[in-house]
Parts: sequence; structure tokens; C-alpha cells
Amino acid sequence: MAAKWTPESWRSQEGIQMPEYRDTAALAAVEAQLGQFPPLVFAGEARSLKAELAKVTAGEAFLLQGGDCAESFAEFHPDNIRDTFRVLLQMAVVLTFASKLPVVKVGRMAGQFAKPRSAGTETIDGVELPSYRGDNVNDIAFTAQAREPDPQRMIRAYNQSAATLNLLRAFSTGGYASLDRVHGWMLDFMGRSPLAAKFDAVADRIGEALDFMRACGLSPETVPQLGGTSFYTSHEALLLPFEQALTRQDSLTGDWYDTSAHMLWIGDRTRFEGSAHVEYLRGIGNPIGMKCGPSLEPDALLRLLDLLNPAREAGRITLITRYGHEKIEAGLPRLVRAVMREGHPVVWSCDPMHGNVIKAANGYKTRPFDRILAEVRGFFAVHRAEGSFGGGIHCEMTGQNVTECTGGAVAITDEGLADRYHTHCDPRLNAAQSLELAFLLAEMLNE
Ligand code: PEP
Ligand code: MN
Repeated sequence: MAAKWTPESWRSQEGIQMPEYRDTAALAAVEAQLGQFPPLVFAGEARSLKAELAKVTAGEAFLLQGGDCAESFAEFHPDNIRDTFRVLLQMAVVLTFASKLPVVKVGRMAGQFAKPRSAGTETIDGVELPSYRGDNVNDIAFTAQAREPDPQRMIRAYNQSAATLNLLRAFSTGGYASLDRVHGWMLDFMGRSPLAAKFDAVADRIGEALDFMRACGLSPETVPQLGGTSFYTSHEALLLPFEQALTRQDSLTGDWYDTSAHMLWIGDRTRFEGSAHVEYLRGIGNPIGMKCGPSLEPDALLRLLDLLNPAREAGRITLITRYGHEKIEAGLPRLVRAVMREGHPVVWSCDPMHGNVIKAANGYKTRPFDRILAEVRGFFAVHRAEGSFGGGIHCEMTGQNVTECTGGAVAITDEGLADRYHTHCDPRLNAAQSLELAFLLAEMLNE
């Protein structure tokens, strides 16, 4: 690693999973333009999130992080943003109600565009083209022109992120998220599902609690915590030219922040020592996530933690484990023990999505709900056994009624996958499956 960090010191390290732009002058022009654009978030907000995550580290709060695998230009619509936000609110209410812990809400939203790919190229019918790397890089259509990386896409992604964030801010503080509206959050298509009735029962009890508080003189109009919520954004910091252009020095502290989102994470493919991504993230003041898959050795993890969090600041690091349901119980204890032994404060969060992808008989990439659930159970079992706090969940989900993951109470079959399979990348839990997961999680948190 370079001794001195600068917003561009990552350029001298090993940068993988990033596109090679043919037109470097066009790239430089876009970087310069982005560098003049307003920040999307402020340093103070990133510090507030860090403080909330520090509470998770201490076992006094729970982290809920979720949203699309990949946001897309095609799915950009206010209803989609509202529906995903709404399901996250519903999940948070269920979790708060059951666990009696505050829930820190972080969307994989307003910037989650860039995708790492296992293979650099894709071959269909003997034709080989560069892989799709997310809408801020190239187009998903399978033509040579569509797959050519275009720096202008970063400008469009910035604008979409700004508009998305604007709506999220309005929803979270403008009345929509008020607890006296909790009944109204039910999505139309969940009307007849068993989850809807279960959620209604929770909403009734919250309504009673609010009536009681109102009688005592406390109401959503007068108590900000009841009338709105804090909501943060996050994405994988993969496309470093974009992240660098949004990196700004905080006028209050003089520290550098990535102002493209409140929280940034390092993917499982880029979290190696000597990685450009690790180099970039070590220098910014935001809370940082790191995906931890089966190939991560405890010693390497400890060295990365020393690099990313030398001051051992609580709330700085969230370790997002993604082993797969069959590997979690054997693999995770080694990491937990190493981190506890060294006294690194971290949030342990479970990504039960990325280790549980299978191909259905009809060719669709899917994730069976029972495997997702099995990984979550394994995660809590390990943390209970090790005496650590399993403090979060990281999901790929949407508020839409898609059919991308199989199973769940409103069971989606292999054949049903074809009905509404819309994702631009990995399969997401739909609204009903997300809410079901929250209820099951709530039971586990109470065990
Ligand atoms: C993701 O979160 O979309 C992702 C690619 O995850 P991972 O880096 O864990 O594979
Ligand atoms: Mn994904």
C-alpha cells in the first residue's frame, strides 16, 4: 500500500473489475465534470450513520441493509423507489417491534450501479462480448456497441442517484414514514397473503401504542422519531473513477469523504491486500462495509482491518459475511474468533444472498428462500455460540412483485420464475418474501 493516501492513490495499486475506456479524453472530461457536481451526501450524515452503526457494534441496534443487486436506468421510476423504501420500512417495523432494538436503515439505493463479474466476457451462440458491468458502465443488450464502456453513463448514474436520493429524503422525513401511516404501507398485491394479515396485526399494536402516547402528549407531529426516520444510502465502491470524482474534503474536520453515498462497501472480489479498492476506501471517513466470503483467511482479514480501521473506531467497519448456507457454520467461527481476539469493533452482518445462487432447471439464476433462511439461521447460531452479536442483514430485494427467488409462503416455483423475472443482475427477494424474512428474523432475534 502507498504510505500516503490521496483520493487518487488507488491508481498505483492493483485495480480489477473496472472497465477500460477506449476514449480516455472523454473519460477525463466526465471525471472533471463529476468533480464539479454537488455532493450527494454530507460528511456529517456519514458520521451520523457511523454513530448509529457504533450502537450495532455494542449490541444496542440492528442493521437492515437492502435494495437492488443493480439499479438500472430502465427501472428508474418513482413507484419502484417508493415500493422498495416501503418494504424496508415494513421490515424495520417488524424487526423493531420484535427485538425492541432500533433498526439502522441503509438502502442499496441511489448509486448501486457498478457490478463485479466472475468472467470478463460473455459468450452466446459462439459470439463473445465483454460482460455487462452495470448501467453506469455499459448496456445489458448483447451487442458489441452496447457492451462498449461509455463514460457518459456515469453522468446519467449521478443524476439518477441524485433524483432517487431526493425522493428518499422526502419519504423519510416528509410524512410518508410516519408511524401513524404504518397501516397504509401495505402493498396492494400483498392484500391476500398470510404476511399481510401478520403485518396488519403488528400495525394494529403500533396504532394502539401511538394512541396511548398521544394521550400522554407525544405524537408523530411533535416527536421526530415517530413522524419520520433516518435513512441512509450505500453501494459497492467499485467504479473508482466515479468515487474519486465525488471525494471531497469536509470543511469541518478536514477529512476526506466519498460523497456519493453514506456507506460504501468493498466486494468479495476486490477485498484483497494490494487492491486499489482497499487503498481507496482506507482514506475516506465514511462507514465501510467489507464482504467476507469463504476464501477470506482470518490473518488476511485482520491485516485488512488494521489498514481500514487503524484507530479501531466503532461503526467504521461492517463485515458482511456471505458464505452460503452449507459453509457458514464451518467457516464463520474462525473469522469471529480472530476479530474478537484482536478486539476489533465491527458490525457483523449477514448477506444470505450471494452464497446461495443456483441455476433452476429452466436456466434462470435463482436463490431458494429456504437456503437464504438456512444461512441466516447459521449466522445467528455461530454468533450465539461465539458470544458475538449478529447485528445485521444485507439483502437483495425489491418492493416489486417479481418472481426471481423461489419459495416463500406465497411459493414461487421454478416454472413461475419466468413470469416476472426483471433483475438486471442477481435474483431479488420480492416484497412478500422480504417481509416474510423480516418476521422470521424477528423470531430468531428473540430466541
Ligand atoms: C453484490 O453485493 O452484489 C455482490 C456482487 O456481492 P459479493 O461482492 O459479495 O459477491
Ligand atoms: Mn448481487
